[in-house]
Formats: sequence, structure tokens, C-alpha cells
Amino acid sequence: MSWRETLGAPPSTERPYTHNSQNTQKHTEPGNCADIADSAYRDSKQESSKLLEALADACRGLAITPTEVKLALAAEDIDDWRNGTISTDTLAAFAHSLVQRRDMDQGKCPDDYTETATCKHCGPIWLWFSGEVLGCPWCWNRAADKPIPRPCSVHCGDCIHFKRINHPHLGHCSKGEPEAIAGLWDMDRRYCECFLPRPQQTHNDQPRPPRADTKR
Ligand SMILES: [Zn+2]
Repeated sequence: MSWRETLGAPPSTERPYTHNSQNTQKHTEPGNCADIADSAYRDSKQESSKLLEALADACRGLAITPTEVKLALAAEDIDDWRNGTISTDTLAAFAHSLVQRRDMDQGKCPDDYTETATCKHCGPIWLWFSGEVLGCPWCWNRAADKPIPRPCSVHCGDCIHFKRINHPHLGHCSKGEPEAIAGLWDMDRRYCECFLPRPQQTHNDQPRPPRADTKR
């Protein structure tokens, strides 16, 4: 018979006791943790206000608030700022690009997008240089189903949203662009911010005479 049984103590007493002793040790920790958390909180608050100060300089003259820019910064960006590898100029450029992106999301063309270019996926676009591109800043609008301002008019027949009816030239717009009762004429030129080019058949690829021959 053990001493516990002799004294009538329940057999499980020992275990809770050890638990308790662990708990007692741990009890001191939350206090330490709270202190550490408290000072970390103060540090991060101080740092946050320093960052907001720097961003206030960066946002001067721009239609965006320091808090909005701060929210857009990635954790790595904030690390870089903390380490002094991001200058106020860089922050200003970032703030400017955010304002520009916001305007573009609303279909507004940036002032420096003065050239006409063609994006493979977006069609005719405004850009800061001319030519043909495989992707462009307006691709974000396309992906988000937002309007893309155009430098020129387009043919409905070249657009993926043009749904042909049983007629050689007529169809309807699946994006709900205004149209006559009969529909839209495929070769009519119109200005459209919803236009998206139909994927081109292998036009730009190298000519393949044998294939062309067998087709005709
Ligand atoms: Zn594009």
C-alpha cells in the first residue's frame, strides 16, 4: 500500500501537482510576454508614425493619403524602408504609381500615355511608347473587366464580345453596348472601351505554304 492510499489521498494527486508546478513557472511568463509585447507595440507605433511622416512627404501634391500608401506597401518594402534602402524619392514614385493605377482603374488615361500602341490582348491602347506589345498596363483593366480608353475606333466584328446572328454582317454585343434594334454591323467603326480583340489566327507566324496549299 502506498502512502497515498494510507492517507486516503486520491491516486491522481501527484499529476495535477506537477502540472501545477509547471503552471506556476509559466505564470511568470505572461508577465514577461506582456512587457515584451508592450514595448514591441510601442516600438511599432513609433515606427509606424515615422513611416507615415516619410509618406506624408512622398504624397505631397498627390491625391492619395499616407495611410493609403502605407497599406499598399509590402512587408519587404517596409523592411527596406526600416533599413534605409528606400528613399523618399522612391516612396514618392510609388505613391505616384498608386494614384496613376487608381485613375487607370477608372478608365482614366495617364498624362504621359501619349502614344498609340497595340496590345495583343487589349487591342488599341494609349501607352508611353508606340508599337505592338504582348502585355500592357491596361491588361489589369481587362482582367478586372474595367474600361480601357482607346486611341482610335474599332470594328465590332474584330471583338470577342460580338455575337453574330444569322446574317453575314449583323450581331449583338454581349457587353450591352448601345446598338440599333437590328444589332451592330461588324465592319462599322465605333469607339469602344469594352473592345477586346479576337485571338488572331497564326497571321504573324511564319508562312506555312504546304498547309495553305492543302487548305485551298
Ligand atoms: Zn493589355
